[in-house]
Amino acid sequence: MAFGNDRQMYDVDLTCAQCGTHISQLPFQPSGDRPVYCSDCNRARRDRFSSNTRPPRQMFQVDLTCAECGTAITELPFQPSGDKPVYCRNCMQARRDRA
Ligand SMILES: [Zn+2]
Ligand SMILES: [Zn+2]
Repeated sequence: MAFGNDRQMYDVDLTCAQCGTHISQLPFQPSGDRPVYCSDCNRARRDRFSSNTRPPRQMFQVDLTCAECGTAITELPFQPSGDKPVYCRNCMQARRDRA
């Protein structure tokens, strides 16, 4: 297959709610009660969305203590490697400010 044509496209006859571009195909079945955007506007909206609101970060449940102040750490935004000291949020922030 020359193209990764694995997504089903639905033939539609709509206009983009943002720029008015005619939309003839959608990767999903339009529900009819939501505005539909062309691929350009969709991308722009997604970019704007992702820069404004950060997606919730996956947190890893851990049972560690801060290498600096000894505070108990129960969550980390990354998987601890085990061979590096781990710092609580305050100390991490302080270290970052110092750097
Ligand atoms: Zn558009
Ligand atoms: Zn600390």
